[in-house]
Amino acid sequence: MDFETGYQMTIGGRGVDGAGRIDVVNPATAEVFAQAPDCSRAQLDEAVAAAQAAFPAWKAMAIEERQALIRKCGEALMGHTEALARLFTREQGRPTDAAKQEIQGGAAWLMAFSQMTPPVHLEETDTRWIETRYVPLGVVCAISPWNFPVMLSMWKVAAALAAGNTMVLKPSPFTPLCVLKVGEIFRQILPPGVLNVVTGGDELGVWMTSHPGFAKISFTGSTATGKKVMEAAAKDLKRVTLELGGNDAAIVMPDVDLDEIAQKIFFGAFFNTAQICVATKRLYVHEDVYEGLRDRLVGIAKAIKVGDGAEQGTVLGPIQNKRQYERVLELLEDAKASGLTLLQGADVPDGGYFIPVTIVDNPPEDSRVVQEEAFGPILPMLRFRDVDDVIARANTSEYGLAGAVWSKDVQAGIDIARRMETGTIWVNQNLELTPGTPFAGHKQSGFGVENGMEGLLEFMVPQVVNVAR
Ligand code: NAD
Repeated sequence: MDFETGYQMTIGGRGVDGAGRIDVVNPATAEVFAQAPDCSRAQLDEAVAAAQAAFPAWKAMAIEERQALIRKCGEALMGHTEALARLFTREQGRPTDAAKQEIQGGAAWLMAFSQMTPPVHLEETDTRWIETRYVPLGVVCAISPWNFPVMLSMWKVAAALAAGNTMVLKPSPFTPLCVLKVGEIFRQILPPGVLNVVTGGDELGVWMTSHPGFAKISFTGSTATGKKVMEAAAKDLKRVTLELGGNDAAIVMPDVDLDEIAQKIFFGAFFNTAQICVATKRLYVHEDVYEGLRDRLVGIAKAIKVGDGAEQGTVLGPIQNKRQYERVLELLEDAKASGLTLLQGADVPDGGYFIPVTIVDNPPEDSRVVQEEAFGPILPMLRFRDVDDVIARANTSEYGLAGAVWSKDVQAGIDIARRMETGTIWVNQNLELTPGTPFAGHKQSGFGVENGMEGLLEFMVPQVVNVAR
């Protein structure tokens, strides 16, 4: 298979060119290096019709057979890791070794969901026999973002298809290529119409969320767009799952071993150039260890290479797209203009969308860099003395996605974790997500659940057969 050219949509099991084309930019050079199809409204209708036509047979297929096909998709994805990772680096920017983890992660999700079977509950009395089982919804509209384009698309594909739904999937216009190639790989395995992949601009997302042919929308992206998606879904009561933004707090207690945790905290904040929904975005550090951790983090930032992910030795790549680059630069300018102390890492190359790793030294709680999700390599570090006070500060956010606590006293860490108002809280680790564990944003970080049995059941509805005896 050629990964350098031939980017086509998958509609009804066929490779299809768009009505037009959209440019795809390599963020390390800011230059267009490929084009992806631009789906027309008529082509979207075709994709939805293909998914509708495929639904009855896919739903009726024995679950073991469906699971076997999903497992095959996982194996095929794994088998194309190298080529997909190279393409991933060019379109997304992340260094190739880390890109491989994303492809393998996507495959792992498919494998895991190929082993999940929804429960059946039976209730029997003298007068009744009641069976509650779960049935698929129909055609799912899946929309994914640019920061983890393959992985987050596969979260949706794995669960929705395992549940017996069919799908039309739209990746971000900034990162369409790997997902188009995944569609092409799966075309050889899945019955036509079960998984359709379409690409185009944001407008395509608007057409999709208002399309009456979908039973459900599974969306990952910003909170602002998530609200529009929910509004569009209300018209015909489509089910929605929304995985949205976060402004995650990490709390570092005074008993930590700084040498042991500094690297972990650094990459928990800056991996993927800090473009992770569950990255540490506010780092609260006890005053006893504040300077020690700050100096270690700045030391790591100065020692690592930021550059083109295709080059040997690069640890962090560019910001993925111009829009996000300009937003992060603006936040940086605001921090400078407000007189905040910025501690920066190694110099970055010219040409692409590069921003040096920046640690903001104890800014006021109400500064923009603390209050807003940067989604780029600017990390505010904030001092605290009192545990109750820091938990209250961590919880003031309108977001509630994830967070972390660092302490040698694991029980104290768990106690703090339970008081945080987020869906996931890590203790002495971060960024750990598994296909079997539910992932659910609290507050304005989301609506509904992905992953785990709860995530599978979000793509289904209970059906009760109640029999008189
Ligand atoms: P975005 O909301 O701009 O775009 C996400 C997707 O929605 C893209 O495919 C885009 O084309 C599409 N879209 C844009 N406007 C639309 C509309 N009106 N209707 C329907 N679809 C539309 O988000 P982004 O900039 O791609 O991603 C960054 C954001 O995603 C961050 O806020 C980040 O925290 C969040 N995110 C959340 C999670 C999570 O699991 N909670 C994971 C990754 C990213």
